Parts: sequence; structure tokens; C-alpha cells
Amino acid sequence: EKLGIALVGLGYYSTDLLAPALQLTENCELKGIVTGSPEKIPVWQEKYGIKDKNIYNYENFDSIANNEDIDVIYVVLPPSMHKEYTLRAANTGKHVWCEKPMAPTVADCEAMINACKSNGVKLAIGYRCQHDPNIQAYMKVAKERPFGKVKMITSAAGYFDGRTDHWKQKKSLGGGAMGDMGVYALQGARLATGEEPISVLAQASTTRPEIYHEVEETMMFQLEFPSGALASCQTSFGIQMNHLQVNYEKGWLKMEPHSAYIGNKGSMSDGTIINYAINNQQAKQMDEDALAIIRNQEMPVPGEEGLRDIRVVEAIYKSAGQNCMVKL
Ligand code: NAD
Repeated sequence: EKLGIALVGLGYYSTDLLAPALQLTENCELKGIVTGSPEKIPVWQEKYGIKDKNIYNYENFDSIANNEDIDVIYVVLPPSMHKEYTLRAANTGKHVWCEKPMAPTVADCEAMINACKSNGVKLAIGYRCQHDPNIQAYMKVAKERPFGKVKMITSAAGYFDGRTDHWKQKKSLGGGAMGDMGVYALQGARLATGEEPISVLAQASTTRPEIYHEVEETMMFQLEFPSGALASCQTSFGIQMNHLQVNYEKGWLKMEPHSAYIGNKGSMSDGTIINYAINNQQAKQMDEDALAIIRNQEMPVPGEEGLRDIRVVEAIYKSAGQNCMVKL
């Protein structure tokens, strides 16, 4: 029996990636939608055969509690809304998947984790890359250390966003390059070391102040890890970049792209090629998360992992705002 998934927020990611991926999944299937845009309902019903009784809006959302078709509520809204909808979802007694960045603040993330715990439901963050064997390859190097200690990391994630009036450009909705793409650069450094940073030095900038005045277009940040490893990271809504380089005492690893939907690949100084075939990243993510729920196991990428990133993201904003190094 497949778990029934309800998508909350039918924007780009739900429409173009998650709903198509849910046609490929083996452990879960698209059963419901929650939307504030009634004009989307017939389109989604036509395409995915969603029953009338499994369609909700933001007002009657909480009555999903009584719907046996739905096992998991997947929050795919702007980041500032993740906390409210995760709390409401947890209170229905359904399991919760929430998109990245988990939420704008550490306090929000903690409230989300606590709400899921106290309701006895599981919480997963949509970090699809951690389900990708190509990313798991450098996580394994961090554990097994074939090249000695990690010394230096360069990690970048960005794209050119030409939009001028989107939540990604609004502070109140949780916009900014750091939370959107910066978490991939940050994850590259965290996963390649297997450590949590102890200090942060960051600089925010913009080349399009007419668009990026509430939030940063670009963030550069340096991280220091307990082992002494250093990372230089970049993220932007104005620059196409997607790479990771890890230099160890006695070798190196390079990935490009390193956080794409498809085609993440790389190589190591000993000649190892990282290029695992993967059918559909989001389908793999959702199948693995569904299986963990079915088997009552720990989620592969739990709320705590989203919180680890936001703890660093908060320090990055503090550093950029105060123009000083921030200790964690
Ligand atoms: P989007 O703007 O395309 O969609 C957002 C949806 O939220 C829209 O359907 C919109 O109508 C709805 N919404 C409800 N209230 C809103 C409000 N007050 N303001 C704006 N929109 C409102 O955004 P998206 O790109 O689909 O991103 C949604 C979430 O998914 C974000 O958290 C984003 O970071 C995440 N995402 C993750 C990935 C990934 O690879 N894991 C990729 C893209 C997006």
C-alpha cells in the first residue's frame, strides 16, 4: 500500500518536479492538493485524477486530519510559510515533509521539530541531494578519509534569476540567495567535512539594487570547521555556478554540477569517477522518505538536518550585517 501525499502550494517545484516524480514513485503517490488558486484545481484533477474530497484550500487545510487517503503533507510554499504549515500539518496527525530552506530562523525550525515530536509524526526536509548517490560518494570520502584530512573546500551554487517581483526577492517571504541556493553551497561544505562549522565570515552584495534591496543577490561566506578545514562558499541569483572542490592533505575531489536535479558528477585525484546513474532524484527522495515512514525508521534527512543549516545561515546573516566574524 502506497502512502498518500498531499502537496501544499502548487508553484514551480510542485508542478514541474514533485508531481511528475510522484508518478514514478513506488512507496507513495499523489493523492491530494492544497491550493489558494482555484483555477489550478481542474488542471491538476485532469492530469492526476485527484478526487474532489482530497482538494483543500488554506482555510480548510486543517480538516485533512479526517482524510484517510492522506498520510503525508508536503509543504512546498515560500520559506516564511513553512513553519505555520508544518505546525498545522503536524497537528492533523499526518507526517510532514517540508521544502528547504527549512525556515527563516532557528527558533522556527525548533518549533517545527517540536510540533512534529509532540504529535508523534515524522518530519523530513526536501534535501533531494542527500538521496543522490553522487553526493553520497563525497559524504563517504568524509567518513573513510582515503586522502587524509579535509583541508580546503570551495563550494558554489547559483543561477541567474530574471524575475523582479517574486518571493525570492522579498524578505518577509523568506527570500534571498542564501536560503535558496546558498544552502547547497553550505551543504557541500558540511557534507564534505562531515562536521559543523565553528565560525563564519560573510559578505552580502548586489549588482541589481533595483531588484535586490530587501535581500542579497549574492552572498560569499567562509567557514571554519573543528578539524581546521576551511571553506570558501558563494551563492547568487545573478551568477550561474554549481561546483564543489575538496582538497585533502593528499588528494582532491571535484564535482560539477554538485547540486543539480540530474547529472551530478565528479572525479577524485586517484582516478575515481563519480557518475552514478539516477532515474529521478525527487522520486528517490520521496520513496526513501516514504519507506522510512512505512518501516517506522529515522528519516534520512530529518528536521534536525534542516536546523543545522539554518543555524549557520543565521550566523552568516549576522556576520554580513555586522561585518565581523561570528563564532558558532
Ligand atoms: P513558487 O513561487 O513557484 O511557488 C510558491 C507557491 O506558493 C505558489 O503556488 C504560490 O501561489 C504559493 N503561495 C501561497 N501563498 C503565497 C504567498 N503569500 N506569496 C507567494 N506565494 C504564495 O516557488 P517554488 O520555486 O515552487 O518554491 C517553493 C518551495 O520549494 C520553496 O521553499 C523553495 O525553496 C522550494 N524549492 C526546492 C527545490 C529543491 O530542489 N529542493 C527547488 C525549487 C524550490
